[in-house]
Amino acid sequence: MKKNWIIISLLFLAGCMEENIKKVEVEMFNAAGDSLGKVKVAEQSSGVKLSGELKGLPAGEHAIHIHDGGKCKAPDFKSAGNHFNPEKKEHGLLHPKGAHAGDLPNLIVEDDGSVKLDLIAPNVSLKNGKKSLFTRKGSTIVIDEGKDDGMTQPAGDSGKRIACGDISKDKKVGQN
Ligand code: ZN
Repeated sequence: MKKNWIIISLLFLAGCMEENIKKVEVEMFNAAGDSLGKVKVAEQSSGVKLSGELKGLPAGEHAIHIHDGGKCKAPDFKSAGNHFNPEKKEHGLLHPKGAHAGDLPNLIVEDDGSVKLDLIAPNVSLKNGKKSLFTRKGSTIVIDEGKDDGMTQPAGDSGKRIACGDISKDKKVGQN
């Protein structure tokens, strides 16, 4: 019996030690491999917040989405898969049967190529579970050449992918 208790205690300890990541940094790269800066991805009560400043993007309106696929491989970033969509919805923040959990409002990049991010993705999480961004395949943040029209399947008619960053547990920030 004593042996069972030891095993139970060890399992309990292992559970306590499981990582509880609240914030990671995602470095974004363009197709040429240049760093555009970092996006902070932070767990909040209302979802996951994306914040930070990026530089070196073309001016104007661009789609940004969280994708469900593995890793960013330049130059086309097709390796980043599709929009993160654990609940099997249609694409688009304006779609009546939407949206993908990875759908986000467009970015407006300034004339100098910079943009400040302050976005909430209400249907994703850094915690374990169906909405978790830490899937076995991995997840990514992708910025597109054009804007997302919020309606057209499967990706808002937003053109080719121009920047990408891996969302990784290895890039956690702070104690958690
Ligand atoms: Zn989508």
